[in-house]
Formats: sequence, structure tokens, C-alpha cells
Amino acid sequence: MDLYEHQARELFEEHGILVPPAEVTGSPKEAREIARRLGGRVVVKAQVKTGGRGKAGGVKLAADPAAAELTARQILGMDIKGHTVGKVMLAQPVDIADEFYVSYVLDRAAGRFLAIASAEGGMEIEEVAATRPEAVARIPVDPAEGVTSARATEIADAAGLPPQAVDVLVRLWQVLVREDALLVEVNPLVRTTQGRILALDGKVTLDDNARFRQARWGADDTGHDDPLEAAAAAKGLNYVKLDGEVGIIGNGAGLVMSTLDVVAGCGARPANFLDIGGGASAQVMADGLSVILSDPAVKSVFVNVFGGITACDAVADGIVQALETVRLTKPLVVRLDGNNAARGRAVLDEHAHPLVQQVTTMDGAAARAAELATTA
Ligand code: GDP
Ligand code: MN
Repeated sequence: MDLYEHQARELFEEHGILVPPAEVTGSPKEAREIARRLGGRVVVKAQVKTGGRGKAGGVKLAADPAAAELTARQILGMDIKGHTVGKVMLAQPVDIADEFYVSYVLDRAAGRFLAIASAEGGMEIEEVAATRPEAVARIPVDPAEGVTSARATEIADAAGLPPQAVDVLVRLWQVLVREDALLVEVNPLVRTTQGRILALDGKVTLDDNARFRQARWGADDTGHDDPLEAAAAAKGLNYVKLDGEVGIIGNGAGLVMSTLDVVAGCGARPANFLDIGGGASAQVMADGLSVILSDPAVKSVFVNVFGGITACDAVADGIVQALETVRLTKPLVVRLDGNNAARGRAVLDEHAHPLVQQVTTMDGAAARAAELATTA
């Protein structure tokens, strides 16, 4: 899960990395008060879990509290790459002499971390990395060894960062380790005209496998920006929202992945990934169906189950029971195969729901669901 800038800033501060004084609000009136407290002039920054806010008009300087209120009013509610701005952070502005880029990111393929650093940070870092890769240093970090002062010095030297950045690099590594992060990024890390080194922007991605240790972020935020994903996560479902119109439910990640491919091969687009796993109880089926049916983009639903340890008749019972609690509003195509397939099909035939139809092959069922979605 990604953290908001203000949450990342909080972590940096806790680990002794300097950040400008700042406060967060969702109210323009309060923004005025905050600006007053911070000394009048402030930077107003959209809090959204996406980069490029500066270029999108989500980072603006306000000269006084009245301007801060006006600017907050403009930025709140703004859409930045599909993210609606619900909060702004107001920060004391700093006089920037230099902008640097530093990050640690998990390099899965290499089984270690990578330190990425550049003396040419700021909003054009992607451009710098693409056109002049030599301006961006990439130094492997062995997770068992971590970033010692010696390694931090090596990173700073390779990137052309000033000596004061070494301490920040060591502390940033501590943020990564202690907070269970897969990515920590500071862009820009700035040198002020007074020579101080400050983190002006932060991105932190936490390892979801460590969520049980990071409860402070979990209470009011599932980590999912998409409301359907948040609802599914709250029900413990393994659901990913996609852009299409055919809702997909399957048992086993591999089967669901191939179901997405087959549906796409039939000329329709999958609306989601949903793996209900081996158990496939009636409750899980009901939860899965209710999440998928609440997606307005969904035109048809394809339930693709290969019975194994959980036999098809148990899954069919689950579907029938689910239909008692969830009102089916869109056609449901079911393909049951594997263990006890014939019995499972008989259960659904007997139930004879007008919106439920069965097709015995995966290809045939995918084609039917695709057709129902595209002609709906
Ligand atoms: P991003 O575009 O989402 O990465 O947002 P940033 O927080 O990185 O802000 C974009 C740019 O705004 C930075 O690269 C800085 O150049 C500028 N900026 C942000 N905060 C301040 C500040 O306090 N003072 C000044 N002068 N510029 C700032
Ligand atoms: Mn930035």
C-alpha cells in the first residue's frame, strides 16, 4: 500500500530526516488558519497517491493566508490522474538551491534493494533518467548489510550529492527497514539556500505482507484507492478492479488469469480479477457476487470453477445460497467442470434462475459471457 505524502513526511520526521513544518486539512477555511500558524506564505499541496502533482497544478505557492484559502479551494476536489483530491497539505515554503533525487526500491529479480540517486532531482527526473541515464546512479544494496555510512557515502559520491546527504541516506534506509517499506523515495531532496538538507516530497510503499505490524495505517484506510477494491478487501476477497465489462469469478489464481485471457480473446474486456480460492463457500460466493454486481461497468458475470478439493456441487450450492442474499441484476454464465461437475450442474438446473445459464466448456462460457456483455 502507498502512503500519502503527509504520512511519508511523518515517517521521515520520526526517523530524523528534516522536513518543512506542515499540516493537513480538507477545509479551505482551516487552510487559512494553518497558513497563519505557519507564518503566512505556504505551499499548498494536493494529497493524492500519484506522482506528477506539480505538473498537474496540484502544488501551488500561496503568498498569504487568504491566498492559501483560495488555493486550497481550487485544489480540493481537483482530479489528478483519476484521483480526487480530498485533502491538502500546507507547508512552510523553503528557498531551494538544489533539488536531488534519492530512493530505495526492492529489486525482486536481483533479490536485493537498489539505491537510485541523482543530483538532478525534481519534476523532470523521468526525463533525466530517460535522456541521460548517466546522471542517475544505481547502486545495489544487500538487504542483510543495509545502508551503512560507507555505503551511503558511496551512493552520494556516485550521484554527486553533497556530503550532508549521507546522513539522510542512512536514515532513509532505516525508514525502509523499520516501517516495512518496499519503496521509499524523496524527490526532491533539497539543499536550501542556507545549506540545510530537507525532504520536500516523499513516497513510501509499504509491504502489505507486513500490515499486521503497521496497524497505524490500516485503521481507516484499506490501502485501496478504488472503492470496489476497498469493499472487496474488507470482505477478505482477492479482487482487482479492471477496466472491462465482464465480471469474473474463479477458483485459483491460475484459472482466473487464464479466464481473463479467454474472455479477452472473445473480444470483451474483463471487469475484474477475483479468485475465491479453494474453499469457495456460499458466503465467499455471495461476497464476490455482491462486489462484482455493484460495479456499474459490469454487463455480465462469468463464474468459472474447476472442482477439486471443493467439489462442483458444493460450489453450485454456494451459488444457489448466494442468490438468496444477493439480487442478481445481470446475466450469470456458469461453467462447472472437474470433481462432481454433473451433480453441480444438476443443482443449478434445478434452481432454474432466469438470469443464470450454464455452458460446459470454458471457451464456450467465455464466448457467451462476452456476447452478453457486448450486446447488453
Ligand atoms: P510532485 O510533482 O507530485 O512530485 O510534487 P512535489 O512535492 O515534488 O512538488 C513539485 C515541485 O514543487 C518540487 O519539485 C519543487 O520544485 C516545488 N516545491 C515543492 N515544495 C516547495 C517549497 O517549499 N518551496 C519551493 N520553492 N518549491 C517547492
Ligand atoms: Mn515530487
